[in-house]
Amino acid sequence: MTLKIYNTLTRMKEDFKSIEPGKVTMYACGPTVYDYIHIGNSRMVIFFDVVRRYLEYVGYEVSFVVNFTDVDDKLIRKANEMGSSVQELADKYIQAYHEDTKGLRVGKALNPRVTENIPEIVAFVSGLIHKDVAYESGGDVYFRTESFEKYGQISHKNLEDLQHGIRVEVDGRKKSPQDFVLWKKAKSGEINWSSPWGKGRPGWHIECSAMAAKYLGETIDIHGGGEDLQFPHHECEAAQSESLHGKPLAHYWMHNAFLNIENEKMSKSMGNGLTIRQLLKENRGEWLRFVILSTHYRNPLNYNGESLHQAEAGVERLNNSFANLRYRLQTLEQVNAAQETGNLPDLGQNEAAEVKQAVEQALAHFNRSMSEDFNTPDAITAMFDLAAAANRYMQVDKAAADSLKALIAAFEQMDAVLQLLYTEEAESVDEEVDRLIEERQEARRTKNWSRADEIREFLINLGIIVEDTPQGIRWRRK
Ligand SMILES: [Zn+2]
Repeated sequence: MTLKIYNTLTRMKEDFKSIEPGKVTMYACGPTVYDYIHIGNSRMVIFFDVVRRYLEYVGYEVSFVVNFTDVDDKLIRKANEMGSSVQELADKYIQAYHEDTKGLRVGKALNPRVTENIPEIVAFVSGLIHKDVAYESGGDVYFRTESFEKYGQISHKNLEDLQHGIRVEVDGRKKSPQDFVLWKKAKSGEINWSSPWGKGRPGWHIECSAMAAKYLGETIDIHGGGEDLQFPHHECEAAQSESLHGKPLAHYWMHNAFLNIENEKMSKSMGNGLTIRQLLKENRGEWLRFVILSTHYRNPLNYNGESLHQAEAGVERLNNSFANLRYRLQTLEQVNAAQETGNLPDLGQNEAAEVKQAVEQALAHFNRSMSEDFNTPDAITAMFDLAAAANRYMQVDKAAADSLKALIAAFEQMDAVLQLLYTEEAESVDEEVDRLIEERQEARRTKNWSRADEIREFLINLGIIVEDTPQGIRWRRK
């Protein structure tokens, strides 16, 4: 099935074709690490994680970069306020970013930092000066925007319109108001690096051009980010990269729409203040994923106080169905092992065929939805259809292992992309139960009866039944 992607550049859905067969290079503009990420940031983070996962699902090897902006005005200001260095501040929030996104079930990406790529950035700026599309002025370096004819290609604005809206700045270092900064001269006491133009630091846009080229190549397959980045950030990135390399920066530009906090009161009290960290204290990351993925990424998402509650109900429904399947299979295997026959119980062919068909349909629906410009709401519907088929099947007295396994496998395939099933927790609970049972055995061996009873009580409260069998201790859920 051909993957279709809506390309901001052409404003059309296009068939996706990667530069190198079987491989995808993808870059998404990451956070400025001066604070905890908030709910507004989470849409980009979750959506592009799903894009990466789906590309892998259909067989691509994906190189995915999400940069960290670890030096800019906001970082400098906050570091000064807190009496720490810019690097200490950045380290703290990068660590927090990893913790918080893990809680959102966001997987791997390469996360280069601006401050680790200064030589590449300086070389990039030098290259632009050499091509006469940039100039030094009083220790700053600016890009000559008029030199790039395609400026406006992503945001679909033209230079005259843009010029109209720009206030003429008092600072006379720029030759033209729409020129943008590539290198900023350091103010006294500010963090800085040496360059051919004196001590300073990179402007914002140049970092992405330099890092995309370094880690992914001069032309990449997909460039992503929030729609607020179309202008000026992505225009400037494209102008820089395309001027230096003489080829497109990216073949497909993808932008997710905003997440709006619905009522104003909530927006004020929560808005930027609602960090993922706070949210994860009382909610599961999967619920927020469900909220984000229930709206197509190019539509505005209205978030309100009810969003997470509704998501919780949906996610729980999927998880119950999945957990029941696994439990049913587990008990079936235990029964078979106990009988030592290894034979599966007889089962009507009709039911098996029905399950097979439901699984195939749900997977096809899932794939069709995702390949149609990442239609995640429809993909979630496919997962609910699968859950419904599973629930119907589990009313059968004698479920067959093969059918249960097929349903479980389909759940797992979809979840490799969506990440809504609580598998990790289930595993860690299993590990914890194993550990407690071992501890209880040890307590009994050492005749520490009170500890042994305590653990037994605790496990009963968890709904765990422990049985002594000739083969050793077994446990199961009530
Ligand atoms: Zn960027």
